[in-house]
Amino acid sequence: MSILLLAEITDSTLSLDITARAVAAASKLGDVTLLCVGSSVADAAAEAATIDGVSKVITAESDALAYRIAEPTASFIVSIADGYSHIIAPATNDAKNILPRVAALLDVMVISDVIEIESEDTFQRPIYAGNAIQTVQSSDATKVLTVRTASFEPAQLTNSAPIEAINTPTLPTLSTWVEDKVEVTKGPELSSAKIVVSAGRPIGSLDNFDIVKALAGKLDAAVGASRAAVDAGFAPNDWQVGQTGKVVAPNLYIACGISGAIQHLAGMKGSKVIVAINKDPDAPIFKVADYGLVGDLFEIVPELTEQLS
Ligand code: FAD
Repeated sequence: MSILLLAEITDSTLSLDITARAVAAASKLGDVTLLCVGSSVADAAAEAATIDGVSKVITAESDALAYRIAEPTASFIVSIADGYSHIIAPATNDAKNILPRVAALLDVMVISDVIEIESEDTFQRPIYAGNAIQTVQSSDATKVLTVRTASFEPAQLTNSAPIEAINTPTLPTLSTWVEDKVEVTKGPELSSAKIVVSAGRPIGSLDNFDIVKALAGKLDAAVGASRAAVDAGFAPNDWQVGQTGKVVAPNLYIACGISGAIQHLAGMKGSKVIVAINKDPDAPIFKVADYGLVGDLFEIVPELTEQLS
């Protein structure tokens, strides 16, 4: 098997943990060629070459590939797809945009959110907000997959794979980049954080998130939110955990004032230890929690933060 894996690169910076997890998944199938695309990817490629399981890193630099726009990136991937049995990417927002287009151009199906690789043609993926696991067998000539990185441990970093630069053909300009509006947050990135502290609708405002941020700061944790908190404008979109947000599987997930709707659980129930703080002892979140604290989050969260000091 010959695998082409799209490295997760944003503004020339490699997301090492996410890419190393995707490599761990892809290397179950065979030799992994890691593709680094962007306007300037030399540093990202050098870092990517250290990931165990990577047999070669290929780089493609072009302004058309700078902003992870689906049309040029998919077109480029298809231009080099010959000879690869599998084209894989981590199931990030960018790859969820790019890989379906790759699959359509190759006239094959995309198999999204893979959580287990059974064999070269058989994969497991969650459906119904994670309430059932579907096993998919594909007879397509080229398998196009996105993998949920939270389901795979990251590959080690002891490698020194060769790096090869390739030329980019003329790429489509169906859409052009205008601007990125990025919410800059301190602390670890939500998708790969080892600890996540999330709050739900009762947090009441963006300012009130300060108590959650204070606890997260003590634990070196990322801050998350339920969709109800995001929809109410209390938290930015990219904090949302769940079926329509990010899927996380940290060592510790602390849910503050989150009811435990299935759509939220779909994004965090793979966490190793779950702590729920909720004033309703019958809240569904307690069914998945390892530890439950019944009470008001506005009292418990600051107290926890103080105890940790
Ligand atoms: P609520 O349902 O309002 O629950 C608040 C909880 O906090 C309650 O359990 C209450 O007892 C408790 N509480 C109240 N005050 C306090 C206090 N002072 N201290 C402690 N506890 C308190 N949701 C997501 O989160 N992520 C998703 O990705 C997502 N995707 C969705 C996709 C679809 C198609 C649909 C239909 C829904 C989706 N939802 C998602 C929404 C989901 O169904 C719930 O509506 C949402 O998760 C509820 O958020 P919440 O628990 O913060 O709010």
